[in-house]
Amino acid sequence: MRRNRRVKIVATLGPASTNEQTMRRLFEAGADVFRVNMSHSTHEGLRDIHTIVRKLEAEYSRPIGILVDLQGPKLRIGKIESGAIRLTEGDIVTFVRREAIGGLGRVHLPHPEIFQAVKAGHILLLDDGKLKLRVIEASDVRIDAEVMTTGLLGSRKGISLPDTVLPFGSMTEKDRADVDFAMSLGVAWIALSFVQRAEDIAEARKLARGRSSIMAKIEKPSALKHLKEIIELADGIMVARGDLGVEMPVEKVPGLQKQITRAARNAGKPVVIATQMLESMIYAAAPTRAEVSDVATAVFEGADAVMLSAESAVGKFPVQAVETMDRVAIEVERDPLYQAIIHAQRIDPEATGADAISAAARTVAETLNLAAIVCYTASGATALRAARERPSQPIIALTPIPATGRKLAIVWGQHCVLTDDPRDLDDMVAKACRIAYQEGFALPGQRVIISAGVPLGTPGATNMLRIAFVGDDSDDL
Ligand code: PEP
Repeated sequence: MRRNRRVKIVATLGPASTNEQTMRRLFEAGADVFRVNMSHSTHEGLRDIHTIVRKLEAEYSRPIGILVDLQGPKLRIGKIESGAIRLTEGDIVTFVRREAIGGLGRVHLPHPEIFQAVKAGHILLLDDGKLKLRVIEASDVRIDAEVMTTGLLGSRKGISLPDTVLPFGSMTEKDRADVDFAMSLGVAWIALSFVQRAEDIAEARKLARGRSSIMAKIEKPSALKHLKEIIELADGIMVARGDLGVEMPVEKVPGLQKQITRAARNAGKPVVIATQMLESMIYAAAPTRAEVSDVATAVFEGADAVMLSAESAVGKFPVQAVETMDRVAIEVERDPLYQAIIHAQRIDPEATGADAISAAARTVAETLNLAAIVCYTASGATALRAARERPSQPIIALTPIPATGRKLAIVWGQHCVLTDDPRDLDDMVAKACRIAYQEGFALPGQRVIISAGVPLGTPGATNMLRIAFVGDDSDDL
């Protein structure tokens, strides 16, 4: 089975979709990676999803990725006596550290770290940004803040502090237990929520010990300040537009999306565009024109993947939402302007063998109008550099390692096939041609370009390019 597009689709699972039948339909409709949000899933739930995904992988002979999205340090206010209080513009509200039931003018804030870090002038956003306050005075035990927008504040609502760098990492005890469990299953990707700085990634990396790739969710202003270092340390990036649009003025999000996408593409790290892409499809079988345009923009920008959240997790039309993304992506990638737009952002290769070979493979494939670029890869690093080139030809990544295939499921343009390492050079060429033919990328008489590291099986040694004819006998080899 092959997809007719380069951009990948991530579908979040939830009550509307966590069953074998729907997951099969989501995969057939185009989902390349399934996301599990640990804010809502249990370990048992994750184990069941993992079992179904592995079954689908075996059935379709395709690697399928799982992205476990950690809850992170979601900050909440305490209980409010009457369930909710009205905050009116100009009112002063006091947030107290000591445990107390909140009432008129007083709210319990059960996070001592906030009291240590917040300063006069900082903004407090409550209930997904619906209520905005400005800090007047802060001490170790209380924060006085002036209400800037009128509204109702309910018990246990979330609080965001866009101006404050909080003195804790992005992983809680729950996150650590979730990472341990996800690792025991062998999931491909872990997404870190509320990353503030590069050290957060380093901490997650230590915990993962190379067993899974780390995706940094960019949703806080402090992460934007340290974007370069975060991209350097992370394996992938998610533009988490939900919380980003709370912590930053919402009109800044489109520009930030472009900047983050370009920076990640530059570094050759996969970038996922997330949240509210087809929001109206939670309730409706067809998207709005604006939503279609939003998905199309991400595809034109050369994002690696577009993501569905509530649409596939709790919506009424999860399969139709994936089908819609699939159709939009295919159409955009066929658009006469697509190649020009995507290549306008192409960046020079870095001075490494893998980059020089990947750039050369693209040039040769385009000049000779070859059918595909076939890339032998162990860790997936060479395949990532090939994707960074955003070539016009399909990329077929061949690897003996299932975990590499699952990791590459989220990466632009990668069609990954699991196969044993070739015995010798002749076998390498024969295998590449046979797979290109069998997977529907090349016809007999067409040519492919093959990149590999010789001696075979040596990680990080991509040093060879070979043009090969796909013969009439490719299916007999
Ligand atoms: C987001 O905020 O856009 C996001 C993807 O994170 P979550 O869905 O975990 O809130």
